[in-house]
Amino acid sequence: MHCLRCGRAIEPGQKSVALYMFTQTVGVKPRQKSAAHRISFCPQCSVSLAMGPAPEGALNVAAWDMIRDLVAGDPALNRAAWESLNGVVVGLLPATGTEGGPRPAQSGGYLEF
Ligand SMILES: [Zn+2]
Repeated sequence: MHCLRCGRAIEPGQKSVALYMFTQTVGVKPRQKSAAHRISFCPQCSVSLAMGPAPEGALNVAAWDMIRDLVAGDPALNRAAWESLNGVVVGLLPATGTEGGPRPAQSGGYLEF
């Protein structure tokens, strides 16, 4: 599992924001349902996205609104981002910022689906 925005690895149980997506038909028989997809954001990206300007695209705005609700609802996520930023969680951040696996293509400050 990786953060969709920065590519940072997210271990099971590690603080993050999970966004679940699936689609299903309504009023159409037989009812069809897609597989559920899980999209993860690290605390830093969650806070950064929430504090940033609205992204373009209706789906992106819908996801942004939900992340903003979480970030605004309780300071715990901000605290987790702060701890990661300061390396309080030992071993979470590489010492130089250049270690670790290659990052996927950046998508700027926007969510892209
Ligand atoms: Zn991230």
